[in-house]
Amino acid sequence: MSSNTDDQISFDTGFYNVINNELVETPLKQHTICPTNKQRLDFESPVSTKEDVDRAVSCASKAYSSWSKLSWDERAEYLNKFADAIEANRDSFVKLLGLETAKPPQTASFEMFLVMNLARQTPLLRIKEEKPVDDEQRTAIVRYVPLGVGVGIVPWNFPLTLGVGKLIPALLAGNTFIWKPSPFTPYSALKLAEIGSKIFPPGVFQALSGNEDLGPWLTTHPGVAKVSFTGSVETGKKIMAACASTLKRVTLELGGNDAAVICDDVDIPSVVGSVSFLTFVHTGQICMNIKRIYVHEKIYDRFLEELVKQTKNFKIGDHNDSEAAFGPVQNETQYEKLKALYSRVDKEGWKVALGGDVKDSEGFYLPATIIDNPPEDSEIVQDEPFGPIVPVMKWSDEEDVIRRVNDSKLGLGASVWSNDVPKAQRMAEQLEAGSIWVNTHFELAPNVPFGGHKESGLGMDWGEVGLKGWCNPQAYWVKHLQPPK
Ligand code: NAD
Repeated sequence: MSSNTDDQISFDTGFYNVINNELVETPLKQHTICPTNKQRLDFESPVSTKEDVDRAVSCASKAYSSWSKLSWDERAEYLNKFADAIEANRDSFVKLLGLETAKPPQTASFEMFLVMNLARQTPLLRIKEEKPVDDEQRTAIVRYVPLGVGVGIVPWNFPLTLGVGKLIPALLAGNTFIWKPSPFTPYSALKLAEIGSKIFPPGVFQALSGNEDLGPWLTTHPGVAKVSFTGSVETGKKIMAACASTLKRVTLELGGNDAAVICDDVDIPSVVGSVSFLTFVHTGQICMNIKRIYVHEKIYDRFLEELVKQTKNFKIGDHNDSEAAFGPVQNETQYEKLKALYSRVDKEGWKVALGGDVKDSEGFYLPATIIDNPPEDSEIVQDEPFGPIVPVMKWSDEEDVIRRVNDSKLGLGASVWSNDVPKAQRMAEQLEAGSIWVNTHFELAPNVPFGGHKESGLGMDWGEVGLKGWCNPQAYWVKHLQPPK
């Protein structure tokens, strides 16, 4: 990766914080571990200090006064140039995402597909103003004005997509933005900010990488107006508490335990094809992976047999393997958590239909594992594993399966699969989740909001709803002057 024209990112030049369009060194640096071989990655990443945070917030505040005064079309023009620059570096980002997340090229390319869709389509969005009162006496407009300095806190599973889905609407709406990547995957975000430094005015888009001090410094900073967070429920609650002290606006995209309900009339091979992919893609480390599969008892055995058969076909490989469907788990913490779960399979008496055995390997590899009809109250059904392990359960009564799906603190997504679409819609409409699907799952678009109900989140990203989350609504009254009598 040595090409270094003005438009091309280079890994050789290192990874820096981006503050006020300058690439900034920090006294302390850190390394991450490559998930495919557990070796230290050669790249260093910055460990921001409190002074870096103060400086970035101050530069973002200064930039806000002019950025917020541009028209939406002017800001969209900057964002379109930014999208072109990302596109020009697509292949480099696929490589970088492969190195930091262990995504094989197919999955890293899928992430770049999502990134490009967001980068191209979000700038087209506009918020429709409402005029609830408009008569001879007066007009009231509900309009949407930007908030100020926004912060995006991003997890390690989709280090670019989840940040871009915050950055672009934040900037389009007139805010300035500081991106905090996960310490497990800081590199692609820092390079993205480097690209941004050549396009946006200073202070508009900045990135700070660091250790566990950095998030709390940002969430408690009095100069920050909004925090948009994606990550675990546990951290989401801490962030909401931290933001309360200054009444910052908060959007939380948290964990999920998505259920798929399979009716007895489906075409088994084709539905299994979709369900197995949506369960195991990115090693089960997507908030919206299918994490509980409820299969009608009439077809349970045939469905399970086909699910095992098709799942066996997925090739597991590293970030250089273009045929691999998925790779290892991204980091050691997650790997150890999952290994502990796998080790409880026998102890809990869960019946294994596929996988289960964790073998020593060079990287954080775990086998795709399917658990056959565990009890509804077992940990494997109730908790989000965030790895390549899934329970499959039987159902027979519609009302009962809907109750079981909804009997969860989480409510990110849920789907119903049937050839009888009206029936599937009737069932899906009773599910308590931020996204509900019929005959699909994890279906997304940049102009459709995405987020969770219950403990899966607060507010939504993407679409006009997401854009409004980066604004304060404002009631704007105009009293019409009456002509003199
Ligand atoms: P995490 O909560 O551990 O970390 C996410 C981010 O928060 C990281 O950048 C981390 O450094 C930062 N952070 C940690 N503690 C903080 C604090 N006290 N204050 C401020 N920032 C802090 O989550 P993770 O392990 O990186 O991601 C996995 C989780 O994310 C899973 O539960 C998954 O379901 C969820 N997730 C949700 C969505 C969604 O859109 N709903 C998408 C992807 C992942």
